[in-house]
Order: sequence, then C-alpha cells, then structure tokens
Amino acid sequence: MKSYRKELWFNVSTRRAFINITSQVQECLNESGISEGLILVNAMHITASVFINDDESGLHHDYEAWLEKLAPHEPVSQYRHNVGEDNADAHLKRQVMGREVVVAVTDGQLDFGTWEQIFYGEFDGGRKKRVLVKIIGA
Ligand code: ZN
Repeated sequence: MKSYRKELWFNVSTRRAFINITSQVQECLNESGISEGLILVNAMHITASVFINDDESGLHHDYEAWLEKLAPHEPVSQYRHNVGEDNADAHLKRQVMGREVVVAVTDGQLDFGTWEQIFYGEFDGGRKKRVLVKIIGA
C-alpha cells in the first residue's frame, strides 16, 4: 500500500468564498502514483470547509444567502463565542458545510458522480489556511 500527504494553502482576501479545488486534488492524485484507493480532503481550520457539489454560480450565491440566514455575521454581539473575536458565524457555517470529503480513486481518477466537484469553503478569510490531502491505495 502506498500513502501520500500534501497540504494545499489558501489565502482568501474576502471574508467568505467558495473555491473549486478539484484540479489541485487531481494533481495530488497524479503525483501520488496511486491508481486504486481512497482520497481524503479536509480543511485544517475550524472556520473553513471542504465539500462536494456543483460548480454553478447561482448555487454558490444560494449557499451564501442560506448560510447568512442560518448564521448571520452581523451583529457579531449576538454570539457568545465573540468575546475578543468576531467569527462565531464562521464556525457555524463550517459545521453546516462540513469538514472533509472522501472520494474513491479508480484507474487514477477521482470517481465522481455527475457534476461533482470539490470546493474549499472559506468563512473567515484574510489569513493563510491549509487543506490536507491524504491518499491511500496502490
Ligand atoms: Zn472563533
């Protein structure tokens, strides 16, 4: 069995963003030389997500509106977590959008369903953050 580990770095200038990282994950898979196995991709920060869905701008706008309804950023004073910080909403948004994804690797490719793409979801940007890519297989 082979294993591969890499950290992808992001520095998003806006507070929130969705970034398609599918090609970066596929590059990791190519580098790994693994053709059959599993790939784990997870955010290494508690205010960011990795999730799978459609790369469609209307949907991304809908996520943004939905998450702001669920956990509005303002007023920051509404959250108990916001003592000396202002990112309680980002923790909640991350919880809803998830920490990680696992994708099957078949014949050296990400074995996706129709329209599936991997995204990094940033909810408290303006600083460097990491995503872990771990691949095991043969
Ligand atoms: Zn916090």
